[in-house]
Amino acid sequence: MLAILKALHLSKHEIRLIQPSTAEDNDWSKRLIETTSDTHGHAYLQHLRTIYDEWLSAGLIESDGHVLPECFTFPTATGKPLRAPKDAFARAGYYAFDMSSGIMSQSYQAIVASANLAWEGADMLVGFASGQVTEPDTVFALCRPPGHHCDGQRVGGYCYINNAALAVSTWRSTYPNSSIGILDIDFHHGNGTQEIFYDDPKVLYVSIHGEDEYPYYTGAEDEIGAGKGEGFNVNLPLKVGSSIENYLAKLDTGLKRLAEYKLEFLVVSLGFDTFHSDPLGSFQIHTEDYATIAARTRESLYGIPALILLEGGYVIDSLGANVLSFLDGWKSASGA
Ligand SMILES: [Zn+2]
Repeated sequence: MLAILKALHLSKHEIRLIQPSTAEDNDWSKRLIETTSDTHGHAYLQHLRTIYDEWLSAGLIESDGHVLPECFTFPTATGKPLRAPKDAFARAGYYAFDMSSGIMSQSYQAIVASANLAWEGADMLVGFASGQVTEPDTVFALCRPPGHHCDGQRVGGYCYINNAALAVSTWRSTYPNSSIGILDIDFHHGNGTQEIFYDDPKVLYVSIHGEDEYPYYTGAEDEIGAGKGEGFNVNLPLKVGSSIENYLAKLDTGLKRLAEYKLEFLVVSLGFDTFHSDPLGSFQIHTEDYATIAARTRESLYGIPALILLEGGYVIDSLGANVLSFLDGWKSASGA
């Protein structure tokens, strides 16, 4: 995060620092639970808030520790819903789908700060959407932890609250029937975002991601949405090692779908783990390519209020330059 802020401070882009809300801020906690209740389980949010203290008081961990899940949920023949275990140790697995997303002493504070940022960013765009042209049409929220792997019921892939879903809820509180597009260009498939909106025709989810990569069980082209949401989930998997030319071809396909959808709000789930030397990704994308990706995106969807949410990206030394390249490309685009 510091690498990004340093690069931004040396650039001409406007930065607004938002004071992170703390876990002790009761107003925020109340707002968080209210706004996320349609996409995140109440018991799950409660788990995020209290489980560290429970583990600590049960003597399961030291103050710098966390519990690694032992047993995840799995399909059964009983037809009965799987209930949350009473045992605090076992709940680590009930509310997770992998072992990447521990909960430690400061975790909840960081989770709340990241979610708050997504919310504030979405809220800032409501002014522009309601015709106040002096308000910004784009906000880039530097959220960490990221969000797109969280399905609202469990942690995974370093994600705890789905920030894109939170943005959708924020916009819907003012514009309940708006059409919203989500362009997910993190290297990994946003299984959580897909899950949340799979049967929702008012959210078009488009993802470009590494084929057969993490989270392994989702992201295929034939996952097209269900029920009324059929046709509103677009997966564009791309072979590992793909060139920028191949990437841009997929991007054009995704942007065409989004442009046809006539959306009123856009979320870009932006991950820089598509960078060529990222330890968790494997596309051949370089710093200057982010400008091209950004410019094409904005040109296709010009004038639509856009919230860009930071997802992954793990080459810290290049993150600042990559973010700047994206922002420069975004700014250079015109509606022509
Ligand atoms: Zn990722």
